Amino acid sequence: MNVPCVRVPRESGEATRQRLAADGLLDHDHQISVVEGYLYIPVVSAADVPDAFDVVEYEPPARETQTTPTDILGSEPSYERLGDIVILDEDDPERAREIAAAIVESDLKAETVVNRASKIKGELRIRDWDLLVGDSTETVHREYGTELRLDIDSVYFSPRLATERHRVVEQIREDEHVFDMFAGVGPFAIPAAKAGAEVVACDLNEVAIEYLRENAVRNDVADRITAIQGDVREVGTEYDGWADRLIMNLPHSASDFLDTAVRLAGDECIVHLYDIQHEDDPFGPGLAAVRDAAEDEYEIEVLEEKIVRSYAPHEYNVCLDVRLTKRP
Ligand code: SAM
Repeated sequence: MNVPCVRVPRESGEATRQRLAADGLLDHDHQISVVEGYLYIPVVSAADVPDAFDVVEYEPPARETQTTPTDILGSEPSYERLGDIVILDEDDPERAREIAAAIVESDLKAETVVNRASKIKGELRIRDWDLLVGDSTETVHREYGTELRLDIDSVYFSPRLATERHRVVEQIREDEHVFDMFAGVGPFAIPAAKAGAEVVACDLNEVAIEYLRENAVRNDVADRITAIQGDVREVGTEYDGWADRLIMNLPHSASDFLDTAVRLAGDECIVHLYDIQHEDDPFGPGLAAVRDAAEDEYEIEVLEEKIVRSYAPHEYNVCLDVRLTKRP
């Protein structure tokens, strides 16, 4: 079938394509063709093409594949998906805007595009964002069958930790008592409850705890999760000696909370201690801190030393899994 195409010499093809894209004239149902040194760029309306361009009738192949941002940019941008949000990590704001425009023009389904505008900061571990496309930073993210609603502007969340969270959750047995000391919107706590555990989830961030409660209902596990908003160090004595498993995902400072962890630990308790350390000794400081806090009361057995991901040059985000067994 013939469709209107702008015909341009190959060397001016990309500039022309960008101009037509900016005017919303590209026909995404047909492919751009190259014939004898000319590009045939399919357009949706010949009448709206500026007079400077040569419009001809041509029969280009129908588009079989989806147009990606890479097709549009000519180079592969790096981005992360979180529900219908696309997250960029670009230092150059101009490049970030170019990528955002390419995402909009592509077949990628995204309501919002944001660029990281600060490091993760403060006790609540939140960062600033530049909103490039869309008007909402709230989304629903799906991870290993769990749905999590969250707003990246007011809570911590990283989709990069999905595999690590799954590794921990797979170890959880029915009726275990799991205490998630830094729970966020519930990416450990909710799958743990889905695995049949009884879960206590604590977080300082009020908004995160509101989302966690909503996510518990959304995933049908509200009856197995107790959500507590506040400083985990102030959790009541009713949880002393309660936990079969403690999740301590507050890298950089989780070790400062090991005295609380020991208070919450039952006679036998597995601790997942997240940490950020130099590659030369990624697990030594965490283990030393566990020994310091627990050795008087507990035997300590290292179950796994897991490098979760690279965090910065020569630094790793790691998880130390240890079993604490109360001394007789
Ligand atoms: N576990 C969640 C996840 O994987 O997405 C959140 C982890 S985030 C790195 C750490 C969380 O600890 C943040 O949500 C922060 O608000 C919370 N937090 C920081 N200090 C705390 C404290 N003293 N007591 C309880 N929660 C705290």
